[in-house]
Amino acid sequence: MKMHIAGNWTDGPAAQQVINPFDGSVIDEVPAADADAVDRAIAAAYRASERARSAPAAERQALMNRAGALADERVPELAETIARECGKTLREATVEASRAGDLIRLAGHEGAQLYGTGLPLDAHPGAGTQRLGFTLREPCGVVAAITPFNFPLLLVLHKIAPALGAGNAVILKPASHTPLTALQLTEIFLDAGFDPELVSCITGSGGVIGDALSADERVRKISFTGSTEVGNRITQRAGVKKLSLELGASCPTVVLDDADVEKAASAIAAGGYANAGQVCISVQRAIVQEGVYGDFLDALSAKVRDLRTGDPFAESTDVGPLVSEREAERVERSIRASVERGSELLLGGERSGALLQPAIVANVDVHDPLSQEELFGPAVAVTKVASVDEAIAAANGTRYGLGAGVFTGNLGSSIRFIREVRAGVVHANWTPLWRADLMPYGGMKASGIGKEGIRSSVSEMTEEKTVVLHGDV
Ligand code: NAD
Repeated sequence: MKMHIAGNWTDGPAAQQVINPFDGSVIDEVPAADADAVDRAIAAAYRASERARSAPAAERQALMNRAGALADERVPELAETIARECGKTLREATVEASRAGDLIRLAGHEGAQLYGTGLPLDAHPGAGTQRLGFTLREPCGVVAAITPFNFPLLLVLHKIAPALGAGNAVILKPASHTPLTALQLTEIFLDAGFDPELVSCITGSGGVIGDALSADERVRKISFTGSTEVGNRITQRAGVKKLSLELGASCPTVVLDDADVEKAASAIAAGGYANAGQVCISVQRAIVQEGVYGDFLDALSAKVRDLRTGDPFAESTDVGPLVSEREAERVERSIRASVERGSELLLGGERSGALLQPAIVANVDVHDPLSQEELFGPAVAVTKVASVDEAIAAANGTRYGLGAGVFTGNLGSSIRFIREVRAGVVHANWTPLWRADLMPYGGMKASGIGKEGIRSSVSEMTEEKTVVLHGDV
């Protein structure tokens, strides 16, 4: 496929292959862009953003509704592409693709609701009553959307839909592993009738083109989802512009003595292994109070043992491959190293190519790298704690703070957890692996800054202008 920049489908100076992680086959080739392509994309986006800001909101909402309808029609193709390039099961990919239409329509609605506020200027001493003040909310201009591989549709749409819905131009830079879904989404917005210069999708290596995109002054806003390391680099390069960073995590789920252990184990078996654990809000750590520790491990083992690994297109597969064999090797090494330091491998961890058997690692020390560093693979590290205090300290005991969950039958313990755990999204009686597209979503600490979720993204992709009318003064 070609990439779409400056209003045209174009080749790049070089090409890069898109590989199916399950069987290693080449699915397609996409352009590997260079800094010159970035410059052309930004110049066109800047021009288009100037045109877009003077168009009525109702017009862009109509285009968004048309794009939503096209996304509804194209769910099967989108799901197939996601499963092929990312390796997630077709079942999971279909759930992901099925959210596209509603998400786009929601962004169309929120993007048309750019409310301002009336200002009580007469309360300022000496201002009198002949001045009227209010605010206007305006599109911020050019948005750079840089996305990771693990949700090639949802995480792209969470950026480009609110950007376009709110009247901006957008330059999308998808992950090198998963450019094809992003290009299909770009096609949807173009087919819906958006100005071709308003939507660019530039493919290639982030290391090669990322700096040119992040540092350019014509880009007013960077919306980035990816690792904390790349987020740090973008922050250093960005200069004066708006930044949203959705970064790495090591999400905890606490199970207290008074919890429904069966329910907790089921939710953690789902929340620790979906998309082969490659979810930023995956349950990486189960922090379990000593009274239910044994029962919890028994219940979790029974469920994880039933998870079937294999071909993402097979009906029977629960867990597909990781995004590459290299990633599977990295996760395998992290599990082994933790076991060498004294953790106990209860189940799984065997690797075949990019497939890794879902693992449970018990007796993991809170300071062990398997707790502290983001794993991004199909394993849950289980740690035993004596008390609620210890559980909260363990939950807070990493540099990250994206999502957290607690299972308890006690409302007071839930409220303590909600108040005391430093995470951007907290769940009582569920795991962090739950998200509605409308809710504010984003991390604290090294997990990021800013919020996504369509209304929040529209707010972050627009700017407030203060207006003062001076009458008879
Ligand atoms: P990554 O950081 O390697 O890459 C993310 C994107 O950044 C890719 O498009 C990549 O090409 C680009 N990039 C690389 N170097 C760049 C540079 N110097 N400048 C600009 N862009 C650059 O992440 P990944 O491996 O694709 O995804 C996994 C990571 O994403 C995990 O850390 C995961 O936690 C995180 N993630 C976070 C959230 C969240 O909501 N917090 C959601 C999903 C994934």
